[in-house]
Amino acid sequence: MRIDEKLTDYVVDQVVRLVKTPSLAGHTDEAIAYVEQELARAGVKHRRTGRGALLATVEGREPGQQRALTAHVDTLGAMVKELGSDGSLLFTPVGGYALATVEGEYVTVETGSGKHLRGTILFDEPSAHVSKKVTDTKREFENMRIRLDAEVRNQKDLAKLGIAVGDYVHFDPRCEVTDAGFIKTRHLDDKAGVACLLGALKAMADSGSRPRLTTHFLFSTSEEVGFGASAGIPPEAGELVAVDMGAVGKGQESDEYSVCICAKDSTGPFDYALRQRLVKLCRSQKIPFKVDIYPFYGSDAAAAVRAGLDAVAGLVGPGINASHNLERTHRKALAATVRLVLAYVEPGGRKR
Ligand SMILES: [Zn+2]
Repeated sequence: MRIDEKLTDYVVDQVVRLVKTPSLAGHTDEAIAYVEQELARAGVKHRRTGRGALLATVEGREPGQQRALTAHVDTLGAMVKELGSDGSLLFTPVGGYALATVEGEYVTVETGSGKHLRGTILFDEPSAHVSKKVTDTKREFENMRIRLDAEVRNQKDLAKLGIAVGDYVHFDPRCEVTDAGFIKTRHLDDKAGVACLLGALKAMADSGSRPRLTTHFLFSTSEEVGFGASAGIPPEAGELVAVDMGAVGKGQESDEYSVCICAKDSTGPFDYALRQRLVKLCRSQKIPFKVDIYPFYGSDAAAAVRAGLDAVAGLVGPGINASHNLERTHRKALAATVRLVLAYVEPGGRKR
């Protein structure tokens, strides 16, 4: 199935909307509600799983081994760990990232009562005119702080604002879509994958087509902390394809203009026959693709298989530059990913 620029525009627009919708593991309701609304708009049947993820099922045209695709809505962020004696906040990470990638970031602290307070992540002696430490100290969670944009001088002031240990901290996505077709923003991992699945579902809905075999789409909520798709994939699915970022970088094949097919990540090789089938689909439909190995990577495919899913697994997704950092991809990679997802589900026929 070919997709047009209008559908790619839709996918880019979904990425923008999704990255601006906060969704940290344990607190993904807003993003799930958003995806729910998009699925409803496309007329796709869906339900919430026990864990609060979303499972959409599109009935196939033929009987046979069911399939599943998954992408995760949860992203990186932080949580208040301690109220500092000087009115600053210490934090603990939600998901894995290097502190250098968040130093200087503007954040929103969400209190238990739903109040939003702005702040900035800084080294605890951040001024170059006051301390030499700012240049030569290794960043650790112990020496990083959130400087709150409020008149706070001590723990009491913080408590008065309603701030408490356990409050969520959302990073500004800094989303920008450039004229050259790049989307640079935090949280492309894996909101780009979610947007690609929504794009594929919309393409099928718009053309009134259905997948050849019954296909499940799981929008999971806790991948960044390791157990996203460990539940929620129906046992009838004999194949699982995770749609998650391709790892671009030195020595990598992956790029920002292709759909990246993972041969092996930290958890081991993906199913060879499934991988070869995905490559063949790209070749025959002239979809720009790369096959790659991700040295430090685990995905929802591994989470599902580890949890006992009796299915073969694969991993595909748009190439993401500077992952878990100031990420970037190109609309070409999103379009290629949507096309591969559609090639995989083999849409056809008319809806009843
Ligand atoms: Zn991811």
